[in-house]
Amino acid sequence: MASEFAIIEQYFSDVGKAAENTLLGVGDDAAVVDLPAGQQLVVAMDTLIEGTHFPQNTSPADIAYKSLAVNLSDLAAMGAKPAWFLMSLTLDNDDPQWLSRFAEGLKETSNEYGLQLIGGDTCRGKLAISIQIAGHLPNGQFVTRQGANPGDIILVSGVLGNAALGLAQQQGNLELTPALRSHCVLALNRPRPRLELGPFLRQFASSAIDISDGLVGDLKHILKASACGARISLESLPVNQWIEQHGAWEYALGAGDDYEICCTLPAGLCGEVDNWNNANPDCRLTPIGEITESGYYLQDGDDMINLDQRQGYRHFA
Ligand code: ADP
Ligand code: MG
Repeated sequence: MASEFAIIEQYFSDVGKAAENTLLGVGDDAAVVDLPAGQQLVVAMDTLIEGTHFPQNTSPADIAYKSLAVNLSDLAAMGAKPAWFLMSLTLDNDDPQWLSRFAEGLKETSNEYGLQLIGGDTCRGKLAISIQIAGHLPNGQFVTRQGANPGDIILVSGVLGNAALGLAQQQGNLELTPALRSHCVLALNRPRPRLELGPFLRQFASSAIDISDGLVGDLKHILKASACGARISLESLPVNQWIEQHGAWEYALGAGDDYEICCTLPAGLCGEVDNWNNANPDCRLTPIGEITESGYYLQDGDDMINLDQRQGYRHFA
């Protein structure tokens, strides 16, 4: 096994573009960064463990991508712009081929999103990647789970259920057409964090959340934090044709792994949503229901299904 110093030096000392606000990056006891004037720091952390968050045979580049994308999605939900990250890497071996493909994936994604790797930790054990990410936004403009009000419209970005459908396909549980298959596997392995929504959320949203643990469970976090209820409608959910034709709504409601954003907006701002959708056809916002005083319901035709007891993905029961 190569020493961790050699591994850091060879693969992780030069990931992403040196940001002007980084005074000291990888190589010292700690990193030192400045914040742009008038901005606040927004920090999040997410861990990916082999066998739990990705199957054992996932490509190193896909693992690298997803480790960053899940973290970026949390910043997106706050309305923040990404800046740098720290990475704690637990490796079960020092396979140079794996490491170089992983590092390449990390570099590609870091460059794409304007991120710099400024430090971390490296140790031996079952493969796990833990990333702490930081970004910033103008003072006081962060978007939280707490601001939803009765009467607000509820919106989600993109299409729901594709990632879960991709996983089911990979696990051999169903057979999709080749075109839909590649679309869904891409959604699973290369989820697009919705960073472009930042300015819109900061300006208009009363609350927002990343729905990677499943829409129904994650929206419930908004309801709890904002002390209100919601009614969403099944037929309004943005899903692909397969889910609609098979009535397989569970993929969209609860399966998770869609790195989309759910947000709420005062009803008077519908016109802003139209403007956004016209200008951003690849990151459409779809109204799926409204915030109410209390209760949590899914409307399916004439049926009202109570969602109060449903939960999102949990590691511990
Ligand atoms: P220490 O003994 O002070 O914890 P390390 O040997 O863990 O130092 O790390 C040395 C330097 O390399 C530090 O600047 C640290 O942030 C950086 N580093 C360690 N592991 C990683 C990694 N996986 N990715 C990026 N930087 C790392
Ligand atoms: Mg260390």
